[in-house]
Amino acid sequence: MCESEMTKYRHTDPNWETGNAKRDQPRICPVSGKKMYANEGEAKTTAAHRMSDKESARMQLRTYKCLYCGAWHLTRKEA
Ligand SMILES: [Zn+2]
Repeated sequence: MCESEMTKYRHTDPNWETGNAKRDQPRICPVSGKKMYANEGEAKTTAAHRMSDKESARMQLRTYKCLYCGAWHLTRKEA
């Protein structure tokens, strides 16, 4: 007897997607006025995206950890 062919289809709960969609507003450092990144990787990813943008292709960004808020910021690096 084999009953392993039960259908795996399940209807999605209609309430499943409500509530927890967009909750991450960018936080701004009160001292530097820069956008706060939770970790270095996130800051670097954003920096890479910005530097790959044509309009700001010449802009060099580096990441640093803020002494005041403890988050990571991006700052422009002199070429
Ligand atoms: Zn800061």
